Amino acid sequence: MRQPLSILGKKPAVLLVLGVMSMLVFSVLWQGSTAVMIHSEGDHVVMLDPGHGGYDPGAITAQGVYEKSINLQIAQKVKEMLGPSGIQVFLTREEDIDYVPDGVKGKTTKKQIDLNRRIDMANEVKADIFVSLHVNATATGQNSGAETFYDSKSESGKELAVLIQQELIKIPGMNRRIAKPGDFYVINNTSMPAVIVEVGYLSSLKEQKKLQQSWYQEQLSRAIAKGIASYFGLP
Ligand SMILES: [Zn+2]
Repeated sequence: MRQPLSILGKKPAVLLVLGVMSMLVFSVLWQGSTAVMIHSEGDHVVMLDPGHGGYDPGAITAQGVYEKSINLQIAQKVKEMLGPSGIQVFLTREEDIDYVPDGVKGKTTKKQIDLNRRIDMANEVKADIFVSLHVNATATGQNSGAETFYDSKSESGKELAVLIQQELIKIPGMNRRIAKPGDFYVINNTSMPAVIVEVGYLSSLKEQKKLQQSWYQEQLSRAIAKGIASYFGLP
């Protein structure tokens, strides 16, 4: 019974303190929102493309691991990691889908329709860069490690590829490959700088196991996110 009375007695002082505090909070928020508004004028936009999906699984291993699933898991992690940087991140797919209408026949035609839709999506959001995520596979199972490819005609594409690959090779146990020019439909046909990141080899049994682990996917995603951020001059 005494408590309410004492609070009542201190009410004007409490209100004053609360008033000053809320003004401070308000001014901080106000400054914060102004800063965000200024930043959004020069917004950076990234289209992440988890390779394959739907009818097209990409590489499949004897153990039943699908490339399309790993591509999507990594893309989602990269998006999450880039969140705080203020970079706007879009994905060409958020689930296990493709963009081929029913009834379309022919492997090459289907592939091209699917890739063209993804390229269009990047144009629609006016993406500054396009980053396609894949996992490699070979028949022999000898190779391992990440590789990043760019269109040899694009200097900015090369710069982006080099920055991403530089981060990827910092991962312990990673091969120390350098970014390479590559002849791929998707990077040749995008209007913005574009790269293909092959995060590893599913054909290596050792790497296949790692690629399914979220701790390893996080290492890869962090490296890709860091490379993208430094392309835009962000920490
Ligand atoms: Zn692939």
